[in-house]
Amino acid sequence: MKRSARENLKATKLVTTGRTGDFADKVVNPPVWRASTHLYENCASLREGPKSNEDGRFFYGRRGAPTQWALADALTELEPDAAGTVLYPSGLAAIVGALLTVVKNGDVLLVADNAYDPTRNTAMSLLKRSGVECRFFDPLDLQSYEAAFCERTKAVMLENPGSLTMEVCDIPALAAIAHDKGAVSLIDNTWATSLGFAALANGCDIAITALTKHVGGHSDLMMGAASAGERWYPRLRMMAQQLGHVVSPDDAALALRGLRTMGLRLERTTESAFAIAQWLDAREDVAAVLCPMLPGTPGHDLWRRDFTGGCGLLSFVLRDLDDAARCRLVDALDLFGIGYSWGGFESLALPFDVPPVRKVMEWPRPEWGVGEALGIRLSIGLEDAGDLIADLDRAFAAMDQG
Ligand SMILES: *Cc1c(COP(=O)(O)O)cnc(C)c1O
Repeated sequence: MKRSARENLKATKLVTTGRTGDFADKVVNPPVWRASTHLYENCASLREGPKSNEDGRFFYGRRGAPTQWALADALTELEPDAAGTVLYPSGLAAIVGALLTVVKNGDVLLVADNAYDPTRNTAMSLLKRSGVECRFFDPLDLQSYEAAFCERTKAVMLENPGSLTMEVCDIPALAAIAHDKGAVSLIDNTWATSLGFAALANGCDIAITALTKHVGGHSDLMMGAASAGERWYPRLRMMAQQLGHVVSPDDAALALRGLRTMGLRLERTTESAFAIAQWLDAREDVAAVLCPMLPGTPGHDLWRRDFTGGCGLLSFVLRDLDDAARCRLVDALDLFGIGYSWGGFESLALPFDVPPVRKVMEWPRPEWGVGEALGIRLSIGLEDAGDLIADLDRAFAAMDQG
């Protein structure tokens, strides 16, 4: 597995970041500042508002307080080329808030056809009602992507790897084309986080992360973030204010705590996921393992070129079986919970089917030779990889017994 100098640098940053400033010099962690009201010296400073204090941040609780700022600052420091980070009450809120920042009535938005399903829903409902036209494109086909741009195309929504189906695309090329066409590129970078993929440094304008997943890491909070450079950060902030988005200081403190161990957790889950992917790949009843870290899988070369790390989220497709068999397998697992979300310390399994709304990208892939692609997604946690493989082995046997 690839380890770069940048990754090593980030191990130290994960420990030191978000701890500087006036608020956290006497204790290790920034205190939890519960605040709606910020107090002013006198009427004159009240009238000056944010200008009345040194960094212009104390104003009113909806703009956060030092606990939230410490988290936002830490995320900014971990994202090369970022000028700032805005926090949102969920990953989806971050996606919606960022999209509303970049498109308006009359604009065209291009959305990668393998994007997170709620992203597609927002594009096809809320944005459509707001007069934004959404067009889906195949992010693996640069030619048709380039041809999809028109005068009105204002933004491109990317995700890497794709949700559930894990296709890795050429983000530097996709972002460069968007840039040439005068469009803003946004990326949902939840899978890799800034540790595994430096989204802004690879040409994207706005990097979105569901902090619910790897940053939280303990399945006990919901939060999202969007980081950007000087051009987009102030506008993201303004839109978040208009939408009334704020996160609680308690959740921000939990996310900061999660961040401290994120590097270690990702290293461990990447290693376990790699071992499990290899084990699955050797099975006759598995038509395909969808895991960018696995050599020989489509997208592996791009993953090696662009990523500085992986994670524990992978999928696989069963060969010549039916949904009942798939459910027998998932139900027989002991160490994997059945549920949404991922990136926690515990392993999860989920049967998935690619929704029929997906039109541009082929699914199942023709080379698998399967009529129906019965998918299972695994989120690998911190359990012993050998125990997880033994659990999977038992569940496959239970599936076969009918
Ligand atoms: C979970 C997820 C989100 C949304 O995050 P929430 O905090 O659950 O709203 C966004 N993008 C991807 C790729 C996700 O997996």
